[in-house]
Amino acid sequence: NKQVVLRDYVTGFPNESDLVITPTTVNLKVPAGSSTVLVKNLYLSCDPYMRNRMRKPNSWSSATAQSFIPGKAISGFGVSKVIDSGNSDYREGDLLWGAVGWEEYSVITPIPNLHFKIHHTDVPLSYYTGVLGMPGMTAYAGFYEVCSPKKGETVFVSAASGAVGQLVGQFAKMMGCYVVGSAGSKEKVDLLKNKFGFDDAFNYKEENNLIAALKRCLPEGIDIYFENVGGKMLDAVIVNMKPHGRIAACGMISQYNLENQEGVYNLSLITYKRIRIEGFTVFDYFEKYPEFLEFVVPYIREGKLAYVEDVAEGLESAPAALVGLFHGKNVGKQLVAVSRD
Ligand code: NDP
Repeated sequence: NKQVVLRDYVTGFPNESDLVITPTTVNLKVPAGSSTVLVKNLYLSCDPYMRNRMRKPNSWSSATAQSFIPGKAISGFGVSKVIDSGNSDYREGDLLWGAVGWEEYSVITPIPNLHFKIHHTDVPLSYYTGVLGMPGMTAYAGFYEVCSPKKGETVFVSAASGAVGQLVGQFAKMMGCYVVGSAGSKEKVDLLKNKFGFDDAFNYKEENNLIAALKRCLPEGIDIYFENVGGKMLDAVIVNMKPHGRIAACGMISQYNLENQEGVYNLSLITYKRIRIEGFTVFDYFEKYPEFLEFVVPYIREGKLAYVEDVAEGLESAPAALVGLFHGKNVGKQLVAVSRD
């Protein structure tokens, strides 16, 4: 049972060498009387929040994002198949997604709203790491619940080609909004415009004035900003927000590897413009997961929602795949295919 083990707590940007592939043994039977479930991990999801779990525990560590333990396998979201079960809700052969170890086999104790049985298997199973899993739920709750969107409004999404961003953009188009995205390469900008249907997009790495880039794409201003990156982009967005605009603070990946976070200088405009900034975490919304599936599965079946994945093959590729998120190496949702059956 190979595992991905954290060598030590990380400061600054994580390196591939911070994660070590380590062999261990596993019992392929659940012990008699145990209510645990033994699963084979098929796909693992690479998510930016995992960076926060690589740091030494601090007062910010929460139950859902506890620091990983050096010398032990890290964990995250994955799609898995039940091999053996002492739990009456799961039978051998069942598929599920939820919290598992980064390893070939995991022993789990299923927890409601952290493990979900997979019922729709006519869609790609790997989608349960993305559009049908945690990032999909994040885009759904963040856009529909936090942004209070209305038809005709202008929406700006950063890290727009990623796991969450590509969905937010498409949800906003479905609602009849004018949608602009930013991303870090020409390839990603092309995807935004030609695959996900954004009205406009720009490569933020090639703009020397982000305030001007936003003004060029959204001359009348921004009603809704779906915030994935923070830092300089947030500062430039505030200047371009319309009065009564809303900012859904989903994440700020540009800050995750900094020991001292960057300053945001235009905050005083929030008062004059009556802007609402609201942070949220998907973990507060998982009770809406069945409602979300009912909404999103038909769009996938009918080919009305595009979803781009970046699949790294084999557990050995997991360290590079996870670390690559912080350099923008992923094109679309980054995941690791550990096994396909
Ligand atoms: P992505 O698939 O978008 O991957 C991360 C992307 O972030 C990279 O590809 C890169 O894209 C961009 N990025 C990396 N470093 C920087 C930087 N320094 N400045 C600007 N952009 C950078 O990830 P997700 O869609 O999974 O996550 C997007 C955001 O949503 C993250 O902030 C994450 O923490 C947050 N999140 C929050 C949740 C919640 O519950 N609140 C749940 C899930 C995600 P590019 O090439 O375009 O720069």
